[in-house]
Amino acid sequence: MTYDFNNIFAKILRGEISCNKVYEDNKVLAFYDINPQAPAHVLVIPKKDYINFHDFVENAPADLIQHFFKTVAKISQDLNLIETGYRIISNCGNNGGQEVPHFHVHLCGGKKLGKIC
Ligand code: 5GP
Repeated sequence: MTYDFNNIFAKILRGEISCNKVYEDNKVLAFYDINPQAPAHVLVIPKKDYINFHDFVENAPADLIQHFFKTVAKISQDLNLIETGYRIISNCGNNGGQEVPHFHVHLCGGKKLGKIC
């Protein structure tokens, strides 16, 4: 599978589509989901072209993987989600229900979330 540079998150990274930004540095961008499933529903993405969780963990350099997940944790703290709790999800591939083929983590909180498995 090759990376599709026309996917919606690639367009957001190129500035062709706007987003409601939560956090940005030179390696990571986070923005609110357009169709939120929780009061706080943020998408966190690396700025490089990884298709999904598997591609990211297999092929990204270790320092980027560490920085990415530490940034997810930092954003959860910035949004005051630590005490009340939150959920991180990464849908991977067809059976995982992934719609956008650019690796991303959903960070959801702000209410008691239902069970998913
Ligand atoms: P997936 O199903 O791939 O894990 O999640 C993709 C997510 O991207 C969905 O929750 C969907 O609402 C969100 N999304 C799709 N298009 C856009 C967009 O143009 N802007 C934003 N902010 N979110 C989007």
